[in-house]
Amino acid sequence: MRHIEIPREEDAPDAFKYWKRRHPGAKYYRFKDARVKRVLKDSLIARQKFLCCYCESRIDGENSHIEHIEPQMGGLSERSMDYSNMAASCIRDPKKNEPDFIPRTFEELVGSTLHCGHARGCNRVVSPYDERCERFFEYSFSGRVSVSRALSDPDEIALAEDSIEYLRLNVPSLVLLRRIAMFEAVKMLGDGIPADAVLGESGGKLPPFYPAEKTAVEKARGAAKPAAQEEVSEQFA
Ligand SMILES: [Zn+2]
Repeated sequence: MRHIEIPREEDAPDAFKYWKRRHPGAKYYRFKDARVKRVLKDSLIARQKFLCCYCESRIDGENSHIEHIEPQMGGLSERSMDYSNMAASCIRDPKKNEPDFIPRTFEELVGSTLHCGHARGCNRVVSPYDERCERFFEYSFSGRVSVSRALSDPDEIALAEDSIEYLRLNVPSLVLLRRIAMFEAVKMLGDGIPADAVLGESGGKLPPFYPAEKTAVEKARGAAKPAAQEEVSEQFA
């Protein structure tokens, strides 16, 4: 999971701040203004560099929803209209996850099994705004995410395990796409593209499955290192 800076209330879009001023005390379930909601969601997507806050699949306005880090809890949460409590997560419409639903587009394939914000419910998972989240997980070339073997605190291990389970980060569609992203990254390195270009931003967008791609790049460069070191020592021999 990629750590994202927590949004500041003052950075919320003006249209959203204006709506809140006109509806003091309103909870999120009363926030029905589709235009303002879209502006709000687009701002979250842009600051997340077009990646889901949990799984890092590519998101845009059509295939995502506004996620509450502290869940709305059926309207009980006092933070349901706080910009700092919102993020953009993949899958717009959970109804498209019926057993007989046949995905027709790439986005529908990614969303064809429920995961991330819509799968989580009110379960406690690590927040992408918690800077610990980056060291909670590790990625293998199979495409699977697992709890980092570097973790030792039992509470952190439990939270990382729960996050994978409740966010369903290893559903087959995510594992497959993560695996493809990792192999693509290694292939690009092999083609001579520099690592910072493989992992670089383009038009405000980071590559999908960025943390897994970063692992792939680091592993590929680590494997290449001994040869590079030999070259250096030969030069100094
Ligand atoms: Zn996701």
